[in-house]
Amino acid sequence: MGKVLVIGAGGVGTVVVHKMAGLPDVFTDIMLASRTKSKCDAIAAQIGGNRIKTAQVDADNVPELVELINSYKPDLVVNVALPYQDLTIMDACLETGVAYLDTANYEPKDEAKFEYKWQWAYQDRFKEAGLTAILGCGFDPGVTSVYTAYAAKHHFDEIHYLDIVDCNAGDHGKAFATNFNPEINIREVTQKGKYWENGQWVYTEPHEIHKPLTYPEIGPKESYLIYHEELESLVKNFPTLKRARFWMTFGQEYLTHLRVIQNIGMAGIEPVMYNGVEIVPIQFLKAVLPNPGDLGENYKGWTSIGCRIKGVKDGKEKTYYVYNNCSHEVAFKETGTQAVSYTTGVPCMIGAMMYLKGLWKKPGVYNVEEFNPDPFMDELNKHGLPWVELHDVDLEL
Ligand code: NDP
Repeated sequence: MGKVLVIGAGGVGTVVVHKMAGLPDVFTDIMLASRTKSKCDAIAAQIGGNRIKTAQVDADNVPELVELINSYKPDLVVNVALPYQDLTIMDACLETGVAYLDTANYEPKDEAKFEYKWQWAYQDRFKEAGLTAILGCGFDPGVTSVYTAYAAKHHFDEIHYLDIVDCNAGDHGKAFATNFNPEINIREVTQKGKYWENGQWVYTEPHEIHKPLTYPEIGPKESYLIYHEELESLVKNFPTLKRARFWMTFGQEYLTHLRVIQNIGMAGIEPVMYNGVEIVPIQFLKAVLPNPGDLGENYKGWTSIGCRIKGVKDGKEKTYYVYNNCSHEVAFKETGTQAVSYTTGVPCMIGAMMYLKGLWKKPGVYNVEEFNPDPFMDELNKHGLPWVELHDVDLEL
């Protein structure tokens, strides 16, 4: 059906190509390209069957990307490198006339700022070129956004209160490690909290608001209000929302380490001089922390991510909770990665499938909740991320 170029050979990229390789009718040709070609080769060898071609590319460099895209001629470029590369890859897609999909919004390297404004600014150019760009197609953003669209379409006349709840109840046995790219993860969780209420953003100190929430099959876990990027597009696309918040669980050990890392300046994103060489503290920290891709082997337990929604249906107040629980051990057995990479990579593959099947295709730049949620929800059930719905339950929030 189609030819894909996947950029980024990290934990998420590993899952994306694993899943694509198993669907030869949809993904007829797959290329995995990244900064370090040996990582692509190792993933391709693990999958076997000569299903994955590999290439080296510096995705910060538009001419290099253009050359690779022109030589391979994919139908779609799937960006699972880092958020810093979103704009260069979008530029290369425009120059070569190829569709685009990613899992995280653009962030400038010198400022920890998660905003869609840079990518939304490409709307006219993609539209005029007749090209589709699908933004934020991982789990959160991604599945959580599609859950919201599905709830609004099928279960509510109006949605009023949205709480996205993200619990990682897994244990990897390390004192401190991040579940995806440490630089991006630490930038995300150390920023100020922010949520939407009555038509405006409300700001909090980092981790200021927290409470125990009960997760299915897991139990109560302390959950912290943080800002997460899908809130920005969801409040725009669902203007009936009176309040939208995002909660994530953190263990005490993790928070203590994070506090120390921040207090001693290791989370800094400004370069410092060390022995005559400029280094960025958080990038150095990444080099000494465990590689998230290697956590899988001893990772036990579950992730549980979902949307708790309150609104009205047929004139009556209604509550609704839709979620997926994913086992780190099962994810590892299937793809050699832990559940955080798995829960991001599977929806990314499904988004690519939606595009290639022509189900999510319209010229312009769109967040995933702007497409029909139904075929995507069906595929989640078939490819390892089944979802559960609870109606009229106590949302705790
Ligand atoms: P990793 O750090 O494991 O992998 C990133 C990969 O991108 C690495 O292979 C890296 O190369 C490659 N890369 C980095 N810079 C460049 C460049 N300039 N040119 C080419 N390749 C480059 O990250 P993850 O796999 O954990 O995450 C991938 C993406 O998924 C991130 O954008 C992350 O924010 C997003 N994500 C989204 C989630 C969601 O639910 N929406 C959840 C989790 C992650 P090298 O190997 O040489 O370092």
